[in-house]
Amino acid sequence: MEVLKNQYPCTVAYEITQMAFTMWQLGWDERNGGNISYIVKEEELVSDIDLHGETRHIPLNFDFESSLLDGKLLLITASGSYFRNMLDFPEKNIGLVRLDLTGKKLDVLWGLEGGGVPTSELATHLMSHETRLSVDPEHRIVLHNHATNIVALTLREPADEKRVSLLLWKTLTECIFIFPEGVGIVPWMPPGTAKLGKATSGKMEKFRIVIWPGHGILAAGNSVEEAFGLIETVDKSANIYMLAGSQAEYFLTEDQLRLLCNENNLQVNKELLELQIEEV
Ligand SMILES: [Zn+2]
Repeated sequence: MEVLKNQYPCTVAYEITQMAFTMWQLGWDERNGGNISYIVKEEELVSDIDLHGETRHIPLNFDFESSLLDGKLLLITASGSYFRNMLDFPEKNIGLVRLDLTGKKLDVLWGLEGGGVPTSELATHLMSHETRLSVDPEHRIVLHNHATNIVALTLREPADEKRVSLLLWKTLTECIFIFPEGVGIVPWMPPGTAKLGKATSGKMEKFRIVIWPGHGILAAGNSVEEAFGLIETVDKSANIYMLAGSQAEYFLTEDQLRLLCNENNLQVNKELLELQIEEV
C-alpha cells in the first residue's frame, strides 16, 4: 500500500496501469495505441493529493458542455503514452484532472508529467462518459483499444449492428449474457475528432460496446474489470468466428438464443432478436 500511496493518486490508477500492460501483452495496444479514462470520486483519493492548490490548466479545444461531468475528477491516459511501460512511469503516462467545463479547461491535479496532455480521443471519452452517466449513474470507465480479432472482423463483415451482434452471439454461448444489448458500430471516421466522439457517444445510449471499423473498439462500464471483460468477450467470439471461417456450419441458431433468453429471463435487445413467437 505504501508503494501505491507514493506512486498513484488512488488504487484504481494502479489497476488501470496493470490493465494497460495486460492489454499490451494481448497485442491490443501496439506502440501508443489505446486510451482509458475513469471517473474518480474525491473519497477514493489518497490524502496527500492537493485538490485546491495551483495547477496547470489544459484548454479544451472542442465544444462540449455537460452538467453531469462539470467539476468531476477524471483519470485519463496521456497522448502518446505507451501501454507497454505505463506501469513503470504512471506519473508520465496518466493524469488526474478536474473537468472545468464551464471554464473550458482541465486542471491537472496529478501526473501528465513533462507537459503531457490527455489522449487525442478526449472528445470521445468525455462525450461517451456524459451519455453513459445519463443512462447509468454508476458508470465510471471508457476504454479504447485495437483488439485484433475485432478489427479483423470489421474487414470481413459490413458495419451492420444487427448482423455483427447476432454473429457474435451465435458463435459463443456466453456472449448474449455478457452483452444482451448487442454491439454498436459507427461508420469509419478519422480518429481524434469531435465528429467521431459525437457518433460514438450517440451509440452509447443503447450500447456499452462500440466498434470502430478498421480501427478498434470502445467499452464503457462501472468498473475496470467490467469494461475489460466486455472487450475480452467480444474479441474471443470474433477470434472463434475467424478461426471457424467459412467452414463453420453449426453456429447457435436464433431459436437457441431465444431459449437462453427465456430460461434466464435475459433482457435482450429486441431490435436484434425477436423473443415472442406468434402462436398460430
Ligand atoms: Zn485507437
